[in-house]
Amino acid sequence: MSKSEIGLIGLGTMGAALASNIADNGFRIAVWNRTTSVTQAFHRDAGTLADRITPTETLEDFVAAIETPRAIIVMVPAGDAVDEQIARLRPLLGDDDLIIDAGNANFHDTNRRAEASGDLPYLGIGVSGGEEGARFGPSIMGGGRKVYWDRVSHVLEKIAADYEGEPCAAWMGEAGAGHFVKAVHNGIEYCDMQLISEAYGVMRDGLAMDATEIATVFDGWNDGVLKSYLIEISGKVAAATDPATGKPMLEVIVDAAGQKGTGRWTVIEAQHLGAPIPGIEAAVVARNLSSRRDERARGEEIFGAAPRRIDRDAIDMDTLERALIAGKILSYAQGFTMIAAASEQFGWKLPLPEIARVWREGCIIRSAMLNDMADALTEDASRNLMFAPYFTRHLEDTHDALRTVVALGATHGIAMPALSSCLAYFDAMRTARGTANMIQGQRDFFGAHGFERIDGGTGQHGPWAMKAQSG
Ligand code: NDP
Repeated sequence: MSKSEIGLIGLGTMGAALASNIADNGFRIAVWNRTTSVTQAFHRDAGTLADRITPTETLEDFVAAIETPRAIIVMVPAGDAVDEQIARLRPLLGDDDLIIDAGNANFHDTNRRAEASGDLPYLGIGVSGGEEGARFGPSIMGGGRKVYWDRVSHVLEKIAADYEGEPCAAWMGEAGAGHFVKAVHNGIEYCDMQLISEAYGVMRDGLAMDATEIATVFDGWNDGVLKSYLIEISGKVAAATDPATGKPMLEVIVDAAGQKGTGRWTVIEAQHLGAPIPGIEAAVVARNLSSRRDERARGEEIFGAAPRRIDRDAIDMDTLERALIAGKILSYAQGFTMIAAASEQFGWKLPLPEIARVWREGCIIRSAMLNDMADALTEDASRNLMFAPYFTRHLEDTHDALRTVVALGATHGIAMPALSSCLAYFDAMRTARGTANMIQGQRDFFGAHGFERIDGGTGQHGPWAMKAQSG
């Protein structure tokens, strides 16, 4: 059998799906997995694809089965497993062989690994779309030297999702750029999901709508501006019935959300960058809060549950939809400005329009709106998305609805961390003169930090300076 065009290590959920996708697209692929029985089972179950897949039992055989210069995808859990795998693989490879970490690495690790690789070819690529995406077309965000991306882009573009004929795979920049973009994608994903769950809360707790009615609302929204994978699956989740009890699935699912950490990485990085992403931060905080079930139950015992019930006349589904549209635009605006800040900080020149384009299909946040975002960023990538005429118009049409919903949440005790943070972001971003002059005054009073005067001059002090010193 002729040698494989590419190799893949790690036949777990994602690796197996990606390997099948690669074979399905006509490429010959060699595979290796730490546990050999998994490799054998994968090959045995590969059906018509088996001819294009070379299963191997040792790393030496695996390496020997791939055409040179080799390209090897590593799809193992992020962290130590990647370092261990690279350490075992490198000695078996030639200087021109390429290692591609396709897991969810922290981009700082990818920066470190790229640096440690020196002149040895290395790429870190973010792959989004879960198992189904990996199998039938993920969104791929590449990082590392462009020459190495170019070497494998024909494979990655072919296996990626496509949006109206354009592949959802692109090179983002050097070193950890691809994994950084993937992390922000996940941060935005957290916020999108939280915004939807808050809208669900208004329907369930505020308006006492049952799961079937809620599913119908989500289905309707999926025909409009909010059309997206997450709205679509929210409708399906709301419509599903638990086979064991016959109750709506949502009624039997515990209200504590899990997380693997990429949202948290985004928030930590935003703090390092000084990039304001309050909606995304609120979404990560909301997941942390959700896991404190006992404490929340104790709180309800002590303070009593908030009234929550909203008069049906106080809000209609159009208002709730418009509030969600505003929240979504504002959270993406935050995500893209964070990417722009990182691009400058790390000297990456991240291609913002391209990022919106590769997110249009294949990934969890795929949505109709991303196409409009790609257009807006193509017009001017340096401007906050809020100020792109298309999105300015949408915000003009929707910010009043966001305010109505957040106000109802406040008066009725329905927690809306993401919607209210997005509203605060909007209000802050439309306030030319904010209140940080007071903070500067306070800082100068207790710490003589100085301030800038509006009529000119930096390092100025207030009349309290002498008093503070003498006191
Ligand atoms: P799985 O747990 O399903 O599979 C892990 C794979 O890695 C297995 O093949 C396992 O081999 C192998 N492995 C584990 N530890 C080591 C090690 N120390 N050395 C060598 N091989 C090892 O994970 P996933 O496929 O879900 O995830 C893989 C990567 O993809 C992760 O970085 C994840 O964050 C990322 N990812 C996952 C997504 C998802 O939806 N699941 C979406 C996007 C990215 P063995 O059979 O021997 O245990």
